[in-house]
Amino acid sequence: MANLTGNLRAPTEKRRCTAHKKGKNGEKGERCQAWALKGQTVCRVHGGAARQNRAAGERRVAEERLEADTRRALARLDVPAVENPLTALSQLAGQVIAWKDALADRVNELQQIRYTDDKRAEQLRSEVALYERALDRCVNVLGTIGRLRIDERLAAISEQQATVVIGAIEAALAHAGVTGPEASAAKAVAARHLRAV
Ligand SMILES: [Zn+2]
Repeated sequence: MANLTGNLRAPTEKRRCTAHKKGKNGEKGERCQAWALKGQTVCRVHGGAARQNRAAGERRVAEERLEADTRRALARLDVPAVENPLTALSQLAGQVIAWKDALADRVNELQQIRYTDDKRAEQLRSEVALYERALDRCVNVLGTIGRLRIDERLAAISEQQATVVIGAIEAALAHAGVTGPEASAAKAVAARHLRAV
C-alpha cells in the first residue's frame, strides 16, 4: 500500500499507524493501513504532520540513533567492570554536574539574546528542557550518594585496608626476626609506599 512517504511495502506491525479510520455512524472503523512517520505512532494523515509531533518524532529518531551509535562504540571498547561502585558513583556525579553546568551556560547565552523568530525560541525551549533533565539527574545521583554516605564508607574501607596491610607487614617482619628500630624503619618505608599509591 502506497503512502506519502513513498514506501510501497505494507507497514510492519511495529511501524503501522495506530489510528483507526472513522466508521459509519461515528463508530471506530478499521485500523489505518499506512506507515507511521519515523519516530511516531501515527501517519501523516492521522496527526503525524503536525509541527509538534514532527519535532517530537525527529527528536526520538535522533535519540535512538545516538543510543545505537553509543552502544556500538561501547561494544568495540573493552569496557572494564565496575570494581568499586562507590567510586564509580562519585565519578558519575562529577560528570553529571559538569554536564548540568555546561547546559546552564548554553541557556544563559540563549536568554541573553532576544529572539523573535520561532526557530530560536524552539532551540531555547529544548535547551531549557535538557537543563532541567540534567538538574533532575544531579539530584538523583547526589541523593544516591547521600544515602550511601559515600565518603564515610570509602574512608572506612581504606582504613580497614590499611589496618590489614600494616598487620600483614608486622607479621612478615616478626616472622623474618626483624625487631626494634629495624622493624620501625621497615614499617615507615611501607607506609611511604602505601601513601604513594
Ligand atoms: Zn493513519
